[in-house]
Amino acid sequence: MFRNARLADGRVVDIAVKGGQIASLKGGTAAKETVDLGKRLVLPGLVEGHIHLDKGFIGEPWKPHRPCTAGFNVRERVEFEKQALAKARSVPERAAAMIDLCVAQGTTSMRSHVDIDPQAGLSNLEHVAAARDAHKHKVSIQIVAFPQSGIVTSPGTRELLDEAVRSGADLIGGLDPAGFDGDIAGHLDAVFDIAERHGVGVDIHLHDGDLLGVFEIEDIARRTKALGLGGKVAVSHAYALGAVPRDVVQRVADTLAEAGVAIMTNAPGAYTFPPVQILHDAGVNVFSGNDNIRDSWWPFGDGDLLERAMIIGYRSGFYTDAELALAFEMVTSHGAKALGLKNYGLVEGGAADFLVLDAQHVQEAVVARPKPRDVYKAGRLVARNGTIVASA
Ligand SMILES: [Zn+2]
Repeated sequence: MFRNARLADGRVVDIAVKGGQIASLKGGTAAKETVDLGKRLVLPGLVEGHIHLDKGFIGEPWKPHRPCTAGFNVRERVEFEKQALAKARSVPERAAAMIDLCVAQGTTSMRSHVDIDPQAGLSNLEHVAAARDAHKHKVSIQIVAFPQSGIVTSPGTRELLDEAVRSGADLIGGLDPAGFDGDIAGHLDAVFDIAERHGVGVDIHLHDGDLLGVFEIEDIARRTKALGLGGKVAVSHAYALGAVPRDVVQRVADTLAEAGVAIMTNAPGAYTFPPVQILHDAGVNVFSGNDNIRDSWWPFGDGDLLERAMIIGYRSGFYTDAELALAFEMVTSHGAKALGLKNYGLVEGGAADFLVLDAQHVQEAVVARPKPRDVYKAGRLVARNGTIVASA
């Protein structure tokens, strides 16, 4: 029984938890154990919609960023990354460190992309799947089989992706069909073929810019509709939507909403990123995640999704309470929808995944990102003030 829980709408309630789920928000008397939350704000567990558990250097000595030799080049970045990871600790050690970093700040569910290529084979998948099982008392993890080295231009990857989905990956990923593979139809045929045959969702990294990126996004929407995959497909990044005129964005937004394709953005660095409010107003599910954290791609990131919501709001020019609430929804309910989480939220029957912190409301939580947080997974305290307290 969690007494004196202040909800986002200001109500102070007693949350009864049974079997890891919220049994009631009206309290009750018979409780084996009672926790007084002292009217602190209770928020639903944060949903990390896009992370790479096999890439981060958390827990490693500082690794200075190595820039590309001549302008940003994804192929060169992938090569630099392979060299850096070869000298880092093992995937299980680094994945565990990143999971704990995120959980300590309130993340209770996440979607991790995992590199699949002929060099790594399925080893990263096996390690991250093992981490998913080992840490399931703290966080629920779903895995995307991610072709970081392409599909069409990386012989053997298509078969490996298929095998990855057969051996436990929850979704099939993709990467810049034009910009990386130079073959939009070939790349998307492979991705959607696997999705169709195995009945899994799709989450495609798309950095391709301007009208090329828009063309690919519309192609993805068309395929999603044709295969009846609405609600199970996401485009991550979609930089192009931040670079094209508003009438084009509006047209694509309507297409995405109709097809049921979600957009993930982490509002990264100096890149263009999708206009969140326009997409949201058109009915597109817009969610977020930290993506790269202290890895070969960039030195930033601390796993805090409230920080991520602030960055999105800051870069979007979000000032009003409604806008700040949207930034918050992107790391909570919108993420839950994109991930297809069942029983999400502070409602009767919802999973008892929540965090407790000192803020007046959601808006203040986004702008102030107060750090002292108690994090509960299935009703059990898993982290307090940045430290993991639960063992398996
Ligand atoms: Zn990513």
